[in-house]
Amino acid sequence: MINVEHLTKSFGKNEVLRDISTTVDRGEVVAVIGPSGSGKSTFLRCLNLLETPTSGRIVVDGVDLTDRRTNITQFRQRIGMVFQHFHLFPHMTVMENLIFAPTRVKGMSRDEAHAKGLQLLERVGLKHKADDYPSKLSGGQKQRVAIARSLAMDPDVMLFDEPTSALDPEMVKEVLAVIRDLGSSGMTMLIVTHEMKFAREAADTIYFLDGGKLLERSSPADFFAQPQTERAARFLEQVL
Ligand code: ADP
Ligand code: MG
Repeated sequence: MINVEHLTKSFGKNEVLRDISTTVDRGEVVAVIGPSGSGKSTFLRCLNLLETPTSGRIVVDGVDLTDRRTNITQFRQRIGMVFQHFHLFPHMTVMENLIFAPTRVKGMSRDEAHAKGLQLLERVGLKHKADDYPSKLSGGQKQRVAIARSLAMDPDVMLFDEPTSALDPEMVKEVLAVIRDLGSSGMTMLIVTHEMKFAREAADTIYFLDGGKLLERSSPADFFAQPQTERAARFLEQVL
């Protein structure tokens, strides 16, 4: 589904991603972990071209993102991204948030978008909040709406950048449960997270980034039981 070849990204002289090559299969759930500043967010942002790679190639479902002829706006609709902060439209109700992009960008009818919105709200357990404004929701509820809003565009891949880092502890679980369900349903996903228990249980593959390098790529069982690098072992000692 995703092919990354020799990806590098520099900001000025700061080389933030160094020669990353990997592939992600359709339906694979990848947890991206690593210390702060290791390049996790930049890596994710390169995958939907919120950042332009300095060199290397990224091919998603046959579309070469690094080819200048690729229509990036069209392509981006196929990749959903959920951030630490929810970025809901505050002046719109939950339902209006959900139908905005499908009607504006995809040309879906209001009725169809509304029906789909209800389905998605049901999926994230928030059907009863359709007519509320975001300000009336808890952080966990806002994040679940943000996930539903991304799903409303029918993405082929979902990217999550620390989706629970801004939440109070009691709300983390409800959001992780939604993400986990999505993974079980076959969505291809990359999730930057500090929730090690979640990474261990919900991911097929762990990526460990350090200093812009993809230092380890292994199954959760292998990674958590016997990391291959000293660096990952030290990281795990600090976070477990
Ligand atoms: P992480 O998400 O793992 O904490 P980031 O990808 O956010 O790491 O950042 C990696 C490095 O890239 C950091 O040194 C950061 O300062 C730098 N960086 C990230 N975004 C930018 C930017 N837009 N301009 C300049 N430097 C950046
Ligand atoms: Mg980050």
